[in-house]
Amino acid sequence: MNTTFSCVGCGKCCTDHHVPLTLTEARMWAADGGQVIVLVEAFLGNGLGLQAQQREHAERRSVVVRSGATDAHVAITFAAYNVGPCRNLDDDKRCRIYARRPLVCRIYPAEINPHIPLNPAAKDCPPESWEQGPALIVGGELVDQELLTLIQRSRQADRDDIQLKDAICARLGIRTTALKGDGFTAYLPNMDAFATVIDQVTAQPLTPEQSDWLFHLSGDDVAGQVLAAGGQVVTEPALTYAFISLRAA
Ligand code: SF4
Ligand code: SF4
Repeated sequence: MNTTFSCVGCGKCCTDHHVPLTLTEARMWAADGGQVIVLVEAFLGNGLGLQAQQREHAERRSVVVRSGATDAHVAITFAAYNVGPCRNLDDDKRCRIYARRPLVCRIYPAEINPHIPLNPAAKDCPPESWEQGPALIVGGELVDQELLTLIQRSRQADRDDIQLKDAICARLGIRTTALKGDGFTAYLPNMDAFATVIDQVTAQPLTPEQSDWLFHLSGDDVAGQVLAAGGQVVTEPALTYAFISLRAA
């Protein structure tokens, strides 16, 4: 099916969305006085947590770490913490930092993950935005070359930043992950500390981080699977993070 799209400027995508940021954008967000949320998920070296067709994309945006007796692949997202309207959205629903807005703001409503097909019904954009404008998807493929370039840049930033993000998390004491598909762990670091650690880590030659990660799971059954694979599981959840479960109620 072919899809047309033209943004109508409703501002909905700028409200109640945590906007994923590149490392450079996260540093900028902190400098501007914004809050960053850190979202963490991982799958095990044996593939636990991973759907087979996701492997290539998931591996590229993750870093190989240790958890107990096993390897794990941790993906770390730094995102603008937007509860309610984004701090940059003005009363006329315009972006105050439009010229330097994050990459993901330029890509929405297209998908960055190649395994997620664009579903207009799942997006915030109102029906009229899909009924006008140039072709966005023809024959199942994105046709906007500029958009494709932005998506490639976003994927490349994920790959380029992941080891630095791991080092930044270690210095901030962020060492508990969720299992991919089971949930996320979510941290709200102090922004002064966050900015300082980014500056420290990016000023040094990068060395792989050695400290282990622990898993926080949604239930004893999943915890049993991670333990059986050799992973390390939290016994006393810390108050420094929230666990966001993806398990169906
Ligand atoms: S930075 Fe601008 S475009 Fe991005 S969410 Fe905020 S207001 Fe919207
Ligand atoms: S929700 Fe869609 S139509 Fe509304 S501002 Fe965002 S991209 Fe534009």
